[in-house]
This record gives sequence, structure tokens and C-alpha cells, in this order.
Amino acid sequence: MSTNPRSALVVGLGIAGMASAIGLRKAGWQVTVIEKASSRRVGGYFIGLFGTGYSAARRLGVMDDMHTRTPREAKTWEITRTGDRQPGVGFLDQPGEPYGVLRGDIEAALFQNLGDVEVRYGTEPTQIIDVGDGTRVTLLTTATGEEREQRFDLVVGADGVRSTVRRLVFGPHERFLRPLNAIICAYQLEEQVPGYAMHHGLVLAEQRRSLWIFPFDDRPPTALFSYRTRDIDAQFRAPPREVLRRVYGPEPFGGAIEHALNQLDRAPNFLFDSVNQVHMSSWHSGRTVLVGDAAWCVTLYSGMGASMGLAGGSLLGELLTKHPDDIETALRTWDARLRPTIRSHQRTALFNGQIFTPTGPLAYRFRQAIMSLGKKDKAPGTPPTALERFFARPRNIEFAA
Ligand SMILES: Cc1cc2nc3c(=O)[nH]c(=O)nc-3n(C[C@H](O)[C@H](O)[C@H](O)COP(=O)(O)OP(=O)(O)OC[C@H]3O[C@@H](n4cnc5c(N)ncnc54)[C@H](O)[C@@H]3O)c2cc1C
Repeated sequence: MSTNPRSALVVGLGIAGMASAIGLRKAGWQVTVIEKASSRRVGGYFIGLFGTGYSAARRLGVMDDMHTRTPREAKTWEITRTGDRQPGVGFLDQPGEPYGVLRGDIEAALFQNLGDVEVRYGTEPTQIIDVGDGTRVTLLTTATGEEREQRFDLVVGADGVRSTVRRLVFGPHERFLRPLNAIICAYQLEEQVPGYAMHHGLVLAEQRRSLWIFPFDDRPPTALFSYRTRDIDAQFRAPPREVLRRVYGPEPFGGAIEHALNQLDRAPNFLFDSVNQVHMSSWHSGRTVLVGDAAWCVTLYSGMGASMGLAGGSLLGELLTKHPDDIETALRTWDARLRPTIRSHQRTALFNGQIFTPTGPLAYRFRQAIMSLGKKDKAPGTPPTALERFFARPRNIEFAA
């Protein structure tokens, strides 16, 4: 057994990166996190955190520090541009009793618990070379352009869907990214859509385009535009605000779309991106392992990216504790334990994507039929049915070594 602590480089200060850093720290490793941004991001968009996520957060010891914002009396409306509204099914009504949080709430809880993990901002890897019992990484400080080499026992690539670590070690993005031919724009509203209470969620779903408003208990909602397109590149040739006005026209927007677009004009931050899954036959190679969206991006449509990022980081730490002198076995076991669940979430995302934003007339009719089945009002505290428990199961798996 080695006497010196092993050293790990974690690339990316998001949910998967920080979960991995805490997991490795608990396993006795010395951990450095590099983040290409010059400071830690805050805020973000609505996340539904399922059992897999909160059991991993508990195992990592961060759940008590997580601020949750599940509305106490949530109500969701299915609305139309012309102002019709009917009771609908919201994201948090899904089986599995998810918590409603902002992405930043999860990240803040993790950051608070990094302990003596070193964090270097404005830093990214430019070369990663496997040297048998470790890796030699070239690190670029972006502000100065200075590069230096450092050796680590393990590199964890948690740098998101367009991962640099994946490109450097496994190959070009095109080999692993599977586009879902959709664009999303997510951001925080300063004010709820007029005519609705704070705790109301809204869903405006049409063929190939939708708007979702996700409510919280203690702050205004977040908005999500989601639309289908085959020409992804064309969506990035004009400012997102202009693109969305074009895509959601030429019909009159109606109150909710108009409000959301006006708020986007004032939003300090927003995410405008295409939706891609990541498919890989192995998430590790030599002494490099990918975690989170970098490895498997299940996409927002699955509702499980944050939960699986937490679980991936937590399980990695536990398996390295179990196999302290056999990193290869730890990584192989980790990959095998997560893979069936990730595959299932990736498949579910394709189905759920039709609920979020149906791809055409048939899918639209199918969606409306499913939604009308789900509308039955349930008294609070009613125990889940067998069918609900069945659907909730994959989202509530606890991953332990
Ligand atoms: C609109 C939307 C809604 C969602 N809803 C849900 C939900 O309801 N439930 C759920 O579980 N999940 C949801 N997700 C998915 C979830 O947000 C992601 O799966 C999760 O945040 C991914 O975390 P990550 O740490 O893997 O990657 P990221 O969040 O992408 O973090 C990567 C980090 O790495 C940094 N980085 C990138 N490149 C480099 C580099 N070269 N060097 C150094 N650092 C780098 C980035 O700056 C970033 O800080 C949603 C996603 C979106 C977009």
C-alpha cells in the first residue's frame, strides 16, 4: 500500500467535478481542481433533483448544506398563446418526489464542502499524456498564456458536454456527441408571468417548440425555451434573443412568451445551446476518467444529469477507497456499475424530449394524450401507486461501493 497520498487533477468546477473532488478527498487523495472560468459561476437554471442525486449528496456529506426550493403548493398550467389555461402536469409532479433547486444551489453546497481541495481558476489542460502509473498534464493559465507540466496519479475530466479532457484523451467531439436536433435557452426570470402566482408553473407546448416556466418556493421562476431544428449551426448566426423571436413567430406571442422574451432581454446570464447526448463505450483510459456530462450527458430531457453527476463523483471516491492499490479495478467497476442506469436515462431522455417539445403532429397528439392522463388531482400525502413507484425506481437508485 502506498504511503504518500495519491494526487488527482479534476478538470471542471461543476457538479460532477466537485462531487468527484469531495469523493476523492474522502478516499484520502490530494486533489487539485482547475476551472477555465476566472471565477465560480452562481445561479443557473431549475433542476429537479431525484433520489439518486440526494442520496449521493448525503453520502458526500453535502445534503445538509443544500438549499432546496420545492414550492409547497405547486400548481402547473398547460397554457396556449391565446390565453387558455388548464391544470397540467409539472416537472416536479413526476414519480420520484424530486426536490426543486437551482443548479447553483447544488454547486454552492458542494463548494462549501471542498475542504483543503486546491482550486485554480483560469486554468485548462492543453495536453494529457499517460505515463503508465500516472499522467503528465500541461496546464495553461489563460490570463498569462503560461504553460507548465505537472504529474498526477489520476485525471478526472468533469468539464462538461464539450469536454477538453475527452478530446485530448479519447478523440474528437464528433465521435461521441449525438445531437438531438434541439436548442434550449434557460435563464432566471426577475418576475413571474403576469396573472400567475409565484408557485405556478406554466407549460406552453406546441409542435417543435415549447416554453416551460419552473416555479420555486422562495424566488421567481426560471424559464426554458426548447425548440427542434435540423440546422443547428444556423441558430448561432444571430443573437439568441433575435433567433427566439423568429422561431416563436410569426404568430402573436401571447402574454407568456412575450414576458419571457422581454425578461431575456434583461437577463444578466442565460444558457443558449444545442442539446447533445454523449455516447462512449468506455469512460476511462489509462489514468484518465470522465465523469458527468463529459462522459455521458443524458441531457436536460432525462432530468437526471445533475443526479448522475453527484452519484458518479461519490461512487468514484468510494470505489477508490475500496481498491486503494488497484485504480484500474476501481475504474472498471465504477464504469460497469453506472453504465446500465446511464443507458436507461439516455433512452428515457428521447421519450421525455417528446413531452418537453414534441417533434411533429403525431408526437404532439401523443403528448397531449399522456398529459391528460396525468392530470388527475391527487390529495397531498397520497402514497405513490405501483406504476408511479415503477417509473420512479431508476431515478432513485443509490450508488454505493
Ligand atoms: C436547462 C437545463 C435543465 C436541466 N435540468 C436538469 C434537471 O432537472 N435534473 C438534472 O438532474 N439535471 C438537469 N440538467 C443537467 C445538469 O444541469 C447537468 O447534467 C449538470 O449540471 C452537468 O454537470 P457537469 O459538472 O458534468 O458539467 P458542467 O455543468 O458543464 O460543468 C463543467 C465545468 O467545467 C468547466 N470547464 C469546461 N471546459 C473546461 C476546461 N477545458 N478546463 C477547465 N474547466 C473547464 C466549465 O466552465 C464548468 O464549470 C439540466 C441541464 C440544463 C441545460
